[in-house]
Amino acid sequence: MVQQPAIDTTAVHAGERRPGPEGSLVFPIYQGTVFQSRPGEAYDEIQYVRMSTTPSQQYLADKLAELEQGEAAVATASGMAAISATLLSVLRAGDHLLVANVLYGGTASLLAKFADRLGWTYTFVDPQAPETWEAARTPQTKAFYVETLSNPLIRVSRVREVAEFCRNSGLVSIVDNTFASPVNLRPTQLGFDLVVHSATKYLGGHSDLVAGCVIGRADLVDQVRATQNLFGGSLDPHAGFLLSRGIKTLGVRVRQQNTNAAAVAEFLAGRPEVAKVHYPGLPNHPDHAYAAELLDGFGGMLSFELVGGEQAVDALFDALQLPYVAPSLGGVETTITKPAVTSHASVGADHRARVGIPDDLVRLSCGIEGADDLVADFEQALSKL
Ligand SMILES: *Cc1c(COP(=O)(O)O)cnc(C)c1O
Repeated sequence: MVQQPAIDTTAVHAGERRPGPEGSLVFPIYQGTVFQSRPGEAYDEIQYVRMSTTPSQQYLADKLAELEQGEAAVATASGMAAISATLLSVLRAGDHLLVANVLYGGTASLLAKFADRLGWTYTFVDPQAPETWEAARTPQTKAFYVETLSNPLIRVSRVREVAEFCRNSGLVSIVDNTFASPVNLRPTQLGFDLVVHSATKYLGGHSDLVAGCVIGRADLVDQVRATQNLFGGSLDPHAGFLLSRGIKTLGVRVRQQNTNAAAVAEFLAGRPEVAKVHYPGLPNHPDHAYAAELLDGFGGMLSFELVGGEQAVDALFDALQLPYVAPSLGGVETTITKPAVTSHASVGADHRARVGIPDDLVRLSCGIEGADDLVADFEQALSKL
């Protein structure tokens, strides 16, 4: 194809073998752990599940790489397996990391608990303030780690500027693109060296698998795969099958989730019971202009605060009929949660106060239900407060 195909086309066709094995349209699950040696096979060509070299794993890696137009990809046993293998590959003892000051809880805890014993140092920087980054860089700085969209306030990192800063300073640029998904942003196109995902969320999309992936520069992805081989976080072909199946519908799912989040955000913003709505698609969001220029869609995640505080939140949760009260995100079903007691429970009240996460903040992950039904459900629930 001459033109760059739509992400929908890529999601369906990327990595597919045509014809597939035995003519199958669906790439089968090669559940075997090991395959026959071939003449002259080098050690790293051995086909073994832990090495992520079996046919189902290679098929999935091809699909993932093409999805973000990366040179290479590797699937991992979870998002945290992707993040830990990436940091362990890029950083050595003595290296320094620039890292966004709002991070997924697991990533923040990984650094807090393991940087010391691995000999890494790191400095938190504001991913919305590029003018502050140079002052935080040291001669030991090796890499810069950010998330496209922050949790739970959905702030938009200046990712274009991160990629450029890293290019100019010789740093490895790493971005967690879980919240945006490749439908709304493909950071490799901005020049990121490595993109990580919790595929448990949008890529899988059905709340029924745990997986992750690393996509990007072939030499770096090779190192991540080698690290993962030794730390043991490869993805089982069975879960990989579910993931590749989920990816085929990524485009239609995420666009519906974008639509639903926009509809709910707009509705909530107009209600007297609602004190504040955090959604980058709303014109009053601090990153709206940047997000509008950067993203193909504003995403399926939003958060909000109620005038009535925590009591009202509990009443709202009781009254809502469609959303499940549950942590995690990115599934076809809408989920609603209080970050202070779920995703951000472990960071402590001080940290939450510093980054502006009130205890009564509500986070919503929109599913693919009808937008009108979600809005109607919020309307009936709010009217009961
Ligand atoms: C969930 C999540 C992770 C961790 O992924 P797991 O699959 O649970 O290991 C990392 N980053 C972000 C942004 C996430 O939402």
